Amino acid sequence: MSPELSIVIPVYNEEDVLPLLAARLRPVADALDTTYEVVAVDDGSSDSSPVVLQRMLREWPQLRIVRLRANAGHQAAISAGLASARGGYVVTLDADLQDPPEVIPEMLAQARAHGADVVYGVRSDRSTDSVFKRLSARAFYRLIRVLSGTRAQVDAGDYRLMSRATVNAINALPEHHRVLRFVVPALGFPSASVTYRRDERAAGKSKYPLAKMIRLSLDSVTGFSTAPLRAATWLGLVGGAAAFLLLAYALVASASGHTLPGWTSTVVAVAGVGAVQLLCLGILGEYVGRMYAHLQARPTYFVAYDSLTGPVTPADEP
Ligand code: UDP
Ligand code: MG
Repeated sequence: MSPELSIVIPVYNEEDVLPLLAARLRPVADALDTTYEVVAVDDGSSDSSPVVLQRMLREWPQLRIVRLRANAGHQAAISAGLASARGGYVVTLDADLQDPPEVIPEMLAQARAHGADVVYGVRSDRSTDSVFKRLSARAFYRLIRVLSGTRAQVDAGDYRLMSRATVNAINALPEHHRVLRFVVPALGFPSASVTYRRDERAAGKSKYPLAKMIRLSLDSVTGFSTAPLRAATWLGLVGGAAAFLLLAYALVASASGHTLPGWTSTVVAVAGVGAVQLLCLGILGEYVGRMYAHLQARPTYFVAYDSLTGPVTPADEP
């Protein structure tokens, strides 16, 4: 029989965190007035996380392990969890205890009380994040809000509860490299929110280096807006106008007999135009890359093993 609640947890090299997570999540989940499963999605961990998970599985019947063949990334791991989850409600939660599990009953209560399909976990306090992370996150959410025109919750990460209808809608999306925290509000289901204090990572190190943060930002922007393409056009127009003025000036200067040394202006023009061209090419490339990924239609993750059904052979995969 399917459980009523699924708790989806992406796990990537979290050997130190997993025992702490179990110790805090299990009492909360066991005290719920519903049946539940915990879907730990092992995102191709290379440390002893798989061993630790197997050990936990032996004494925690509600735990389920879904192992991906290779590291697919945070968002893809969550997607894999959503595709595997059986619950009528699904909560997604980070493994590192930055999202306190104690909030889950409140999310469930909100969903039931208001008939909400989505209950966002909103961070009331980011004092445990670095100044850089806070400032970059704020700028990032504002930018996406302006670009996408969706009412993406500011300060809502990937800690949220979703109804079966919402999860089915997400699973049916053909889009690749989706950033769920912006995709979910764009689906337009009735929502509510619960505020919580985001704690410090319980153990281990962040799996989100700057490069991955930039990747996530680019996916968010290109996933929701073609404004950068239009900005490239405007840059071209403004640059063209400036070049025209410069040309007029050069003609007048040479007609009036001034001989220009010309080195500085040449260097500035060449470097400036080169930079703008590269930027515009890069912007174009981001969209071409997205179209390419979409055309290839290659799954963003491959499931190798599900503790519910055993090894998954490629023929079983959707
Ligand atoms: N994660 C994952 N695959 C990755 C990177 C991260 O499944 O390639 C998981 C990680 O184990 C954690 C969650 O995604 O449960 C969030 O990662 P992390 O805490 O490192 O990010 P941060 O909180 O620093 O932004
Ligand atoms: Mg974290």
